[in-house]
Amino acid sequence: MNPANAPLVIVGAGHAGGRAALTLRAEGYCGRVILIGDEPHLPYERPPLSKGLLQGTVELASCSLCDPARLAELEVEHLAGNPVTGLDPQQHRLRFADGSGLQYARLLLATGGRARRLPGVPVHLANVFYLRTHDEALALRASLQPGARVVIIGGGFIGLEVAATASALGCVVTLLEAGPRLAGRVLPERVSSALLELHRRQGVDVRLNVGIESVQGEWEAGSVQLVDGEVLPCDLLVVGIGMQPNIELAAAAGLEVGQGIRVDAQLRTSAPDIFAAGDVCEFRLHPEGVFQRQETWRNAETQGRHAALNMLGGELPFEVIPGFWSDQYDWGLQTVGVINPAEPSASRATPGGGFLLFYLDADQRLQGACGWGQGNSIAKDIKLCERLIANQNPLPVHALADAGVPLKQLLRN
Ligand code: FAD
Ligand code: NAP
Repeated sequence: MNPANAPLVIVGAGHAGGRAALTLRAEGYCGRVILIGDEPHLPYERPPLSKGLLQGTVELASCSLCDPARLAELEVEHLAGNPVTGLDPQQHRLRFADGSGLQYARLLLATGGRARRLPGVPVHLANVFYLRTHDEALALRASLQPGARVVIIGGGFIGLEVAATASALGCVVTLLEAGPRLAGRVLPERVSSALLELHRRQGVDVRLNVGIESVQGEWEAGSVQLVDGEVLPCDLLVVGIGMQPNIELAAAAGLEVGQGIRVDAQLRTSAPDIFAAGDVCEFRLHPEGVFQRQETWRNAETQGRHAALNMLGGELPFEVIPGFWSDQYDWGLQTVGVINPAEPSASRATPGGGFLLFYLDADQRLQGACGWGQGNSIAKDIKLCERLIANQNPLPVHALADAGVPLKQLLRN
């Protein structure tokens, strides 16, 4: 049963959900739009949480997708602090904790994810921090005092960005990574090495191949014991060991799920009139590709927009070039396209000590690129790489590897 007069509803008022709500209005949809979130805030972007917001140079208002007055003007009904607890796809109905319900005509699930908990660490330890939400970032920020001994578990993006911010704030930082290199599952070896060197140069004690035996302390974490017996005293502990997608609502409702909520090319789930977008969405980048999730700003932004267009009756396949960035100290990395974890096909140095890595397919067409450089110095080159990926012309390896050949020239050729 599809109640045609019911509202368009979005569950998850994060980046993807917020972008979808704004797109529905931008596209001229005049019916009711209801955006439901369990956080108390307007939809906001998360990248500053481990960077400027954590450092105290940025506040929540500048991370929000839109201000409250604008949302009211657009007549988007925002139900904040209101977790959805049940979904009945047959009845087109949502349920809330107080037993009340809400009918929808079409629904977007943009429930994102939560920080994975470190097994064996009691939840009541006051100085153990995870980082996913604004409120968690504020709590952590208050503890990052100069001289504080900070132990970070996890050498992925949260661990690395928090290490950079904490060390800039004068904390004494130790970072523990279980694997043989930093962000090893998503970044090329050369970037992992550059990150390692940068963090060590900044005074962070980075340990690789480290096993955690236990976290010691009754009310607070006082130290971390490693598998090799070493004990690392700490004033606070930050855990960044990955994200767990919020799939439970969809799974309990019988929607098809894998590592995320599965969708087709139009971002439609296995249930009628239900779409998914953002970190929680498991999709195929190409029709014959494998199902995957992407945990990036760009994915939340583009899928949120795309899902909204298809909720309005569009049949647009989701076809975008993926990408992400990370800023640490005054260095930045950016990727575009698909980064093959194996060796790049070519690389070139960039001014100021950075580099670009290029990934070609068997027909010499660019599939992905990754850049490392000071500040925003590689942004322009990465934009050009995106255009080279889009036009799919075969490229000579020697020209990519020659820093004297402007990428713009390859575009013209
Ligand atoms: P979210 O933003 O997590 O939003 C989902 C929302 O749904 C949340 O508010 C959640 O509480 C809510 N929700 C869940 N279940 C329910 C329910 N049942 N009822 C109601 N509401 C519910 N990406 C980059 O590319 N570059 C970066 O530099 C970068 N930095 C980051 C830094 C941090 C600290 C974090 C955490 C992420 C960063 N990312 C970065 C990743 C990027 O922010 C995420 O990919 C993006 O936020 C995903 O958006 P989303 O809308 O899918 O999920
Ligand atoms: P992540 O990027 O998946 O990294 C987790 C890291 O922790 C991995 O290197 C992992 O190693 C390691 N690890 C796992 N278990 C461990 C253990 N028990 N002890 C020590 N190390 C362990 O996840 P995250 O850093 O927690 O980030 C969470 C989410 O925020 C992700 O969605 C991420 O994309 C997003 N985020 C993105 C950015 C950005 O794009 N710039 C910035 C911040 C956050 P293995 O891989 O070997 O398991």
